[in-house]
Amino acid sequence: MANTSNQRKKALIIGCGIAGPATALFLKRVGIDSIIYEAEEQIDDYAGLFLNLARNGMHVLKELGLDEQIRQKGIVMHAMKMVSGKGKLLGNIGQMSGEPQGFTIKRGILHKMLREEALCQGISIEYGKRLIGIDTNEPHRVKVSFEDGGIVSGDMLIGCDGIHSRVRRIVMPSAPAPSYTGLLSFGGFLHSNTIPNERGIQTMVFGKRAFFGYLVRNAEEVYWFGNMNYPGTPNRRELQSIPQAEWRRTINGLYANDIAPIPEIVRSTEEEIGVYPIYDMPSLPVWHDKSIVLVGDAVHATSPSAGQGASLALEDALVLAKCVRDIPDVELAFSEFQRLRRDRVERIVKYSRSIGKRKHATNPVQVFFRDLMLPLFLKSFNNDTNRWMYDYNVDWNEKVTV
Ligand SMILES: Cc1cc2nc3c(=O)[nH]c(=O)nc-3n(C[C@H](O)[C@H](O)[C@H](O)COP(=O)(O)OP(=O)(O)OC[C@H]3O[C@@H](n4cnc5c(N)ncnc54)[C@H](O)[C@@H]3O)c2cc1C
Repeated sequence: MANTSNQRKKALIIGCGIAGPATALFLKRVGIDSIIYEAEEQIDDYAGLFLNLARNGMHVLKELGLDEQIRQKGIVMHAMKMVSGKGKLLGNIGQMSGEPQGFTIKRGILHKMLREEALCQGISIEYGKRLIGIDTNEPHRVKVSFEDGGIVSGDMLIGCDGIHSRVRRIVMPSAPAPSYTGLLSFGGFLHSNTIPNERGIQTMVFGKRAFFGYLVRNAEEVYWFGNMNYPGTPNRRELQSIPQAEWRRTINGLYANDIAPIPEIVRSTEEEIGVYPIYDMPSLPVWHDKSIVLVGDAVHATSPSAGQGASLALEDALVLAKCVRDIPDVELAFSEFQRLRRDRVERIVKYSRSIGKRKHATNPVQVFFRDLMLPLFLKSFNNDTNRWMYDYNVDWNEKVTV
């Protein structure tokens, strides 16, 4: 029998990344109490580089009343200027007029903002809680166990534990694993007032040996990232164990012969250069099981090329809470959540991967054809073809019906 009791429900949220606190905030609005359990002992506000909050993600933050902070602390992004390795303009994505495509923000700032809002609204976050087991033997209840020996139970479990989700591996052991795209992402920050800066524009260069992108905040702080081909199936820890001096040597070498200001940006980078492998998720047959559902990267991680990972996690949070608000049966609500979200997120994962593939080209023939074809592709992109991605805006007040 379905659990449609009117008693206040309790959600166990696994993972305090971006999806975790956003989901807890929306669930609170619909009368569900959440506790967030995070594996890390403490949060490193400097972990991660920066990410894009696309217009669609900003719509969700506006609903939470948090968009203004992003406008103040982030870098507005109207257009991307695409440049060939020889310095030739291949085209622009986006327009300088109208609503921006989004904002670029340090992940640590977005993360802190969501955590603080959750705490401010009385939502508990428990650190050092690495989920290791799930028990669903009791109908309509979920019991989870943590590595530290703790056990808790609730009416539903929301797996917000990122691309290598333990929740997913336990609940859906035969689900496909994340797939490595063959690319690493790396980048950093520096202070400089000599790097050319066009407000609202990110410059992307198909460098001779690797892709490079940069943007400037307030004419003084440069954010940059690069992508390079990398063999095997590396994990973050492995890459972190390679000494910084070695990464710096490799990355300086990669861009040494590229157009200005790339070599200078890389050389002058302050502090650490962060390096991450890029994975994305193949399509999962189902996103939920009994009173357990996956959200964000745990179910549909996308490579960063489309700049949509965080925005999709935020959209999920809002749509999931609406489903739970309007459909009293939790399992039915989760099934509707999957139905409402699946086509959109899978289309974006595919689209992002296709952009990433263009970054792989390094041999002269591939580069020739890419530089020839890309202007045509960029024209079609500007032809409003991607409005479906950026203009998605779910009305919180509209009822979900099945
Ligand atoms: C440290 C870090 C740095 C990142 N840096 C960037 C970046 O520079 N650029 C970019 O585009 N994206 C970055 N991302 C990814 C980006 O945050 C996500 O793609 C996106 O925001 C979706 O968020 P999410 O909440 O689904 O997943 P995530 O943000 O990955 O959050 C998942 C959370 O779950 C926790 N967790 C994992 N396993 C368990 C477990 N067993 N029990 C309890 N908790 C668990 C993790 O510690 C993490 O806090 C980063 C993610 C992390 C974790």
